[in-house]
Amino acid sequence: MVIGAGHAGVQAAAGLRAGGYGGPVTMVTTEAHFPYERPPLSKEALDQEVDAASLSFSLSLRPHDFFTDHRISVLRGQAIEIDRLSQRVQITGGRRLGYDHLVLATGASPRRITLPGAALVGVHELRTMSDALALRSALDRARRVVVLGGGFIGMEVASAACKRGLHVSVLEQGDRVLGRAVSPPVSAAVAAHHRAEGVRLLLGDQADRVVGRNGRAVGVQTVAGEWLPADLVVLGVGSIAEDGLARRAGLATDDGVLVDEWLLTSDPRISAIGDCASVGDAATGTSRRLESIQNATDQGSYVAARILGDVPPYHALPSFWSNQGALKLQMVRSVPGHDRLVVRQGDAGFSVLCLQDGLLTGVESVNDSAIHMAARRLLSRITPTEIELEEVDFDVRKLARRAMTVDAALPGSP
Ligand SMILES: Cc1cc2nc3c(=O)[nH]c(=O)nc-3n(C[C@H](O)[C@H](O)[C@H](O)COP(=O)(O)OP(=O)(O)OC[C@H]3O[C@@H](n4cnc5c(N)ncnc54)[C@H](O)[C@@H]3O)c2cc1C
Repeated sequence: MVIGAGHAGVQAAAGLRAGGYGGPVTMVTTEAHFPYERPPLSKEALDQEVDAASLSFSLSLRPHDFFTDHRISVLRGQAIEIDRLSQRVQITGGRRLGYDHLVLATGASPRRITLPGAALVGVHELRTMSDALALRSALDRARRVVVLGGGFIGMEVASAACKRGLHVSVLEQGDRVLGRAVSPPVSAAVAAHHRAEGVRLLLGDQADRVVGRNGRAVGVQTVAGEWLPADLVVLGVGSIAEDGLARRAGLATDDGVLVDEWLLTSDPRISAIGDCASVGDAATGTSRRLESIQNATDQGSYVAARILGDVPPYHALPSFWSNQGALKLQMVRSVPGHDRLVVRQGDAGFSVLCLQDGLLTGVESVNDSAIHMAARRLLSRITPTEIELEEVDFDVRKLARRAMTVDAALPGSP
């Protein structure tokens, strides 16, 4: 049984069938909509030119007859309790279902901050299809939008609102946008792009309160004393793992459901994957929770393969993308952090090579896809002397081709 029918849950269920599993597969989901893609909710779904009525169809994660064709039951309801002794899950509506193996793919939900005025009409958050449809119709009526939080979702919403010709301000408490996710050169490029589009960026400041009149938001008062009039306020202040179900069942949690390198929880009959899972690293004693499509789908595929047979511990390169108007951002990172950054200009954009202890450990690209794809093949293999960082005509693609040739010549290569 799989709890949650997002990217991770659907991938796990589909992976079980693809791997030849013949037993019953049930997915439990709280969502009213057919399983759908989440990234477009802050991008295409807010675009006036995209037809709202067709959204839930066009964003489907799988064709509509996929689940019946593959004998995957999709059960609407909320899993409210796991009885680990009897291996049963209590679902709303009085239903109790048994499991041989349980996969928690419960995702994350928007972080809720204690902000006066956050419950006023006109204040929106964005996680689900229903949130996106509500935000979309609010954008249809809005003139002035204030986005709280300069992370990916906040900047993507700002971009969509700006494209509609609305007056947009973004309030970010850090000193740069996307500060927790990308290096300063990428933050600077993103900020410059949005400012050029007409977005007002207020950095190093935060909302003190949302002010309302007759129950509706009319503006945001900032801590630094700015008054930002608004008929629409969007909260984009991060997400928290949906790990309450696991915690209530006595599973180990800490900013997510704690899993080992096989994505198993502290109960070997329960796995956790995707946004809700925090994967432990036995070598360092740390754990890391990621929120990305690559992470959710890779972990979904992995857990299906592991249920079906012997597999090595889970390993994947964490990657992420974001589209903001004309900006296409791509990030990949083998380990967090860096001690050196090298910026390489491309034809239409640039890439930032992140180095740690002499190894290339990350690549962040802005409108520079070809270099990005070449550089990611070199991660954790190339030292600065080898990549001749200071050479003006240094060519990442040539180096990637050379590395592939060396790989092909190694014994055991296919
Ligand atoms: C607006 C937005 C834009 C994004 N853009 C990008 C992007 O450009 N690139 C990228 O890589 N990532 C992006 N992400 C992140 C990406 O969408 C997530 O990392 C991914 O969807 C996680 O998949 P998941 O299956 O783990 O969780 P989810 O997709 O959140 O699915 C979990 C599901 O479980 C259900 N559920 C939870 N608890 C229960 C319960 N007790 N019983 C039954 N059902 C339950 C939830 O309702 C939900 O439907 C974006 C996210 C958002 C919100």
